[in-house]
Order: sequence, then C-alpha cells, then structure tokens
Amino acid sequence: MASKHDYYETLGVARNASDDEIKKNYRRLAMKYHPDRNPDNKAAEEHFKQVKAAYEVLSDSRKRAAYDQFGHAGVDGAQGGPGGGFGQGNMNFGDIFGDIFGDIFGGARSGRGRGPERGSDLQYTIEIDLADAVFGKTTEITIPTLAACDACSGSGARKGTKPVSCTDCGGSGQVRIQHGFFTVQQTCPTCYGKGRMIRDICFSCQGAGRVRQQKKLSVKIPKGVDTGDRIRLTGEGEVGEAHATPGDLYIQIQVRTHPLFERDGKNLYTEVPISFATAVLGGELEVPTLKGRVKLHIPPETQTGKVFRVKGMGVPSVRGGDQGDLMCKVTIETPINLTAKQKELITQFNQSLSTSNKHNPKSSTWFNKVKQFFEDMKL
Ligand SMILES: [Zn+2]
Ligand SMILES: [Zn+2]
Repeated sequence: MASKHDYYETLGVARNASDDEIKKNYRRLAMKYHPDRNPDNKAAEEHFKQVKAAYEVLSDSRKRAAYDQFGHAGVDGAQGGPGGGFGQGNMNFGDIFGDIFGDIFGGARSGRGRGPERGSDLQYTIEIDLADAVFGKTTEITIPTLAACDACSGSGARKGTKPVSCTDCGGSGQVRIQHGFFTVQQTCPTCYGKGRMIRDICFSCQGAGRVRQQKKLSVKIPKGVDTGDRIRLTGEGEVGEAHATPGDLYIQIQVRTHPLFERDGKNLYTEVPISFATAVLGGELEVPTLKGRVKLHIPPETQTGKVFRVKGMGVPSVRGGDQGDLMCKVTIETPINLTAKQKELITQFNQSLSTSNKHNPKSSTWFNKVKQFFEDMKL
C-alpha cells in the first residue's frame, strides 16, 4: 500500500524542505514515472502513485503539519479529497497530467486542464466446458461497452467542426480568482476543467464522443485455466474521453462442472465401478478421458477405493510444466437381482472360505484395532 512509505523519502527531500523543493522534486519524479511515459510498467505506476500520494500531503501545509506530528495516522483518509482517490484502485492519470503541465506551462499550453478521462475497466465472466479449460479455446464474446462515436470520430463535435479552446480559461481548464491579496486557482466552471468546449455537438453521441455499443471480441483462452482465473485484455475496456487511454477488459473464467470428471488443480478424478469378479480375478476395462478411451489394467485382488493413475490425462499447467494425471478410483459393485440359484452359489462359495481371516485383509487389521481399542478403554 502506497501510504506506508515515508512521504519525504518518496519525494527525495529533507524533512525541512521548502515548498518549492517539494514541488520541484514532485514534478521531476511524476514526469519520470508517469504512466504515459512508462506504458505497461507496473513498478513505475506504483512509484507514480506513491509520489502523487506524498505530494498531496506535503504540498498542503495543514496535512504536512499533521503528518509531521502524527505520521500516516495524521493524514489517513485525507487522500480521498479532491484530486485523490487512491485505494479505490482506479486513479485518473489525466487529472495528474493536467496538474503537472498546467503548473509548468501555465496558461500558455492550451487544451490541458483536467484532461480527458481514461476509459473504465470492464469485467466479463465467461463460462466454459472442462474440455475447453483443458485444451484451450478461442471464442467470440459480445460485451456492452462505450466505443468511440463513429459520426464524430470521438471528438463530440458535429462532423466538420472541432472542439474549441474554452473561452473562459483559455484552454487551461483553470481560472484564477482574486481574493483580496490572494489569487486562488480553481477548476474552470465553464468547461469543468477540460479546457475544451464544443460549439456544435454531434447528434449521435450528444457531444460525449462515446456511444454505448455491443462490441464483438475474439478471446483466446489458454489451456489449463481454472475457475477464478482472470485474463486481462489491455485496452479492450471502454474508450476514454476524447481518445484518452481506454480501460482494460478482465475476463473471469468459470468452468462448468463435468458429469464424469472432477478437477483438483491439474489432476482429474473419476469413479470407475468394477464387478466383484474383476476385482477378485483382475482384468482390463476401458475408462473415459477427455482425449477418448484408454485401457485400464486391474490387477487381481483389487480392493474397493483403490486409485489408479492414468498419466498425462489431466490438465496442463497454464504456466507451463507437467501435465496433470487422471485418477481413477474403483468401487466394487455388489451384484443385485440375483436368482435363487446364484444366491445358493454365493452361499456355497462363502462356506468354502476358511474361517480364518486370511481372505479378508482389511477385516483382520480392523478386528485387531477394535480389540486394542476395547483393551485401552478397559471395557
Ligand atoms: Zn459523436
Ligand atoms: Zn474553461
């Protein structure tokens, strides 16, 4: 979290630094780490946020005093104020860009006030079959989004016209108001800090430059994904105001349950019923996998609950590495709907077994455990 860093250290100034030194270092660092100069650089973005957070406090004499006295506790919550909005995870880079350049170039630089707003991120949940999660898939989705208006190419001004510099602030987005000896700089109330005005608005988008639209998108789902995984498509979110950076699209993966296979990480589990005779004598049977049938060898004297591993028939790892396996858990079926004759044979068979426990590997250990238990309890 950005607020845990020491604000003076973050700006590289001494604790008794003057306002000018703080401002100078802030500009230098903010320009260095600005996301527009460091596209797709998470570390720079994080640096940038910290620098901005530090400057917000140290540039305000009241907040700075509170910070000097009480540390972060003195200013926590103060960042939610105007121009802040950290911790909500969605910061407005355009805003900050405007702050920096507005200060440096003063009113000379036109068209840069609050600046156009970045497009919002979008989230979309996609439900896929287990096989698609295992083998990957390219699929088409349709998302409701804000797209650039075709009629005005996103400018918001009627075809053939262009937005003009705001006449009240000269395009800076800021106006100066005299208060006795002081001059206070404020967001321009005419253009709300955008620095631009549209004289003839585009009819299609009512001047917004963006329209609600259903956008078709081809999404490549990598093999090995699981429920809860998220795919980020940079720049596929809503378009920004006046061609500002578009938001990102996050695809949330939801894998449907499968009637035969249960997934745990990279392994798949399935239950295979086998007959009493196969369990006793051994045999071979076919089991299903996502790639088709495979033969499973059942050794003689197989107990119920035994798990056989079919190598490589599980799920590949999204990040590369070993493919998972298919685990087949056998359960022995008790025969039902037997005739009198068959029941007679079972009885004969049972009588043929020796009374010792030598045919019942589990029972003998179980009876021993029960005996021990009662002895321990002195029952
Ligand atoms: Zn338009
Ligand atoms: Zn204005």
